[in-house]
Order: sequence, then structure tokens, then C-alpha cells
Amino acid sequence: MNVDGDRLREDIETNAAFGAVDVEQGTGRTVFAGTEPNRRARDRFVERLKQAGLDVRVDSVGNIAGRWSPPGADAEPIATGSHLDSVPRGGIFDGPLGVYGALEAVRTIQNADVELTHPIEVVCFTEEEGQRFAGGTLGSSVAAGNRSAESALQLTDDAGTDLETALSEIGYNGTDRVDADEWDAWIELHIEQGERLETADVPVGVVTTITGITHCEVTIDGEENHAGTTSMDERADALSAAGEFIVDFERVARERSSEERTAVGTVGKINAEPNATNIVPGRVEMNLDIRSIEYGSIDEMVDQAQRSLDRIAAERNVSTAFEREFDVRPVSMDERCREVAHSACEAAGIETLEMHSGAFHDTMHVANATDAGLLFAPSRNGVSHSPREWTDWDDCSVATQALAETLVSLAT
Ligand SMILES: [Zn+2]
Repeated sequence: MNVDGDRLREDIETNAAFGAVDVEQGTGRTVFAGTEPNRRARDRFVERLKQAGLDVRVDSVGNIAGRWSPPGADAEPIATGSHLDSVPRGGIFDGPLGVYGALEAVRTIQNADVELTHPIEVVCFTEEEGQRFAGGTLGSSVAAGNRSAESALQLTDDAGTDLETALSEIGYNGTDRVDADEWDAWIELHIEQGERLETADVPVGVVTTITGITHCEVTIDGEENHAGTTSMDERADALSAAGEFIVDFERVARERSSEERTAVGTVGKINAEPNATNIVPGRVEMNLDIRSIEYGSIDEMVDQAQRSLDRIAAERNVSTAFEREFDVRPVSMDERCREVAHSACEAAGIETLEMHSGAFHDTMHVANATDAGLLFAPSRNGVSHSPREWTDWDDCSVATQALAETLVSLAT
């Protein structure tokens, strides 16, 4: 059983043309859910599913599933896939490798002499990247029953267009069901978006846990005043207080990560008011992103950030507010899926490495509905969400081979 690397490459390159952007370096695309480039990408995908003999369904939020049911395969389906939407000026592998890798794996299994007891379903979820309607992983949250289709369809973009209208405009407001509860197991192939595989020179990562994420909003109120006439000891400078907090929070995250490697903390967004050269800043709003595969590590970093803020408030004569506004717990990948992936790859002579995922994926939702696993392919220099995102075609082939081997093990 050997995947056809040229056929996979042709599919990914054809898909890369939809929403292609002009860039000096690399290959980029911008594909938001429900747009014309998204319609073309979906049409092409559906055409390729049908050419491979799969029965295609589209659900009400635009999730696409193609099912291959060979004779005798009457148990619950094994499903696999990813997403075709992108971030602005995103890369050509983030999502499409998992979608077209899934299709290539099925075509490879079709050509091999194996008897399956489970059908295989190839899936494309709507709006994983969350650039238009929701915060991300929209279609998978509905398929896994974590969000109702009705509420998803009412989500609007910045122009006030709702998801239902956008999907009907491109012809993907389906009437079928794509339900993760019906799947016996799920495996997603995705690019790593980090450089651990490249560094270790291993072609396939088997994910243990998808990170938990907390976002906090921090507000510091000082006193806005004239930068020339307010003496240094009369000030309540919100931005200087914020600066001290940022450095302190970085220390907290560094200390935590020295104990537990996956712990990371970032102040990624800051807004100072009035943001003028000659005015002592009166107010700062900051947003923290805190992640770890250990929920206790996240809690501890949140506690320490709050304590640091309290200390700074007392020492600098500013008032502060701290809100934990977004919180998702870490999700463990299913033991059976991980073991099958390792052993199927070992039997095929493909080396694997266990690793966590520091980013969200559709698999996070699917794991709530069925046994779920996540495989990674190497990302050159760890770059993603950029036209410089790259995975060598040979690496795409090997990772897809790993997916095919895993699917056969699960489906027989
Ligand atoms: Zn992705």
C-alpha cells in the first residue's frame, strides 16, 4: 500500500490557487468561510470525492463528508479530515494537507487488497480558522454537538451577513447530517506548526494532548495628565505599571515552563490611552494568552498574574481589573487512536514522535463525541499562518502514508 505523492501534490497545488495572494516569498492564500474562493475550493473537493467514488453529504453549517463503504464494511465509520479555510495570507498546507491527505489515504486503501469492516469518511469542516463568523473550529463544534446548528447559522460577520446566508450564496447550506457521534473513531492529519519534528528529524508526530487555553483581560487605570507639568512623584502612570506587569508576567511564565515545558504565557495585545507623546498614560488594556496541557499550570499562572497585578496596584497608586474571559481545558487524545497510530506506523517503517499540540484543532471538538487522534507532519522552521509555511512534498507523502496505515488498522 503506497500513497501517490504526485496525486496528493496536484490536489494541494490546485487547491492553493483558490484565494491565492500575491507575495514576494512563498505561496499564500486567503480563504474565508462562505466566500467565492471557499466555494471554488469546496467545489473542487466535492468533485475529487465523487471521482474517487465517495458518497457526498453536506450538512446545514456546510460541513462536507464523503463516505466510502466497500462491501462488508457495515460497522460505524472511521472518519478523517480537516479544513479548507485559512487565515488572511495563510499557507497552503494548514488544513488542506489533512483534507486531501485523507482523500489520498482512501484512494490508496481502495487500490490495496484489504477488507474493511468499517466505512471511511473524508471530512472538511467549515471555518476552522474563525476569521469571519466565530472564534474558530465552528463546523466541528456543531458536528460534535458542542454548539447547535441553529445558533451557528445566526452568527454574523462584520458586514452583518449571517452564516446561513453566506453558505446559501455559495450553495453549501446542506440538508444532510454530519454527526461525529456516529463515528467509531476520528483521525486528523495536520501540519505541526512548530519545529519539534524537524529538529528530531522524525516524519510523523502523534499528539498526546491538545493544549488548554485561557485568555485574560487586564485593565490598569491611572491618571491621565500633562507630561511636562506633572512631576515624577505626582504620577499614576498606567503604561509604566503595565510595563512592570508584562515583565513580571513573562517571569511567571518562564518559571512555570521550566517545571512544565508546555506552559506558555503571552501578553499579545496592549492598548494605551490616550497614546500621545506628551500625556502621562491614564489607562491600559492588555490581553493575556495562557496555555498548557496541564490545567493546573494554567490556573497557577492566572493566580500569579493576579497577585502581580495586585502588588503593582498597591505600589504604583493605580487601580486594576482582571477578567478571565475565555477558558478551554486541555483535551487528551484517545489512547486507542494513539496506540494504533504508533503501531501501524512502526509496522510500515515510519518513525513517530509523541508530542502535544500548542494550537487548537477541529479534533478538540470531535474528541468530545468519539475516540479521536491527531497526527502531525513537519513544518519547515516551524512557520505557519504565513505564505512561508512549508512542508516538503516527501514529508506530505510519508505523513499521508501514516494516516492511511492508521486508518486501515482502525477500519479492519
Ligand atoms: Zn489548521
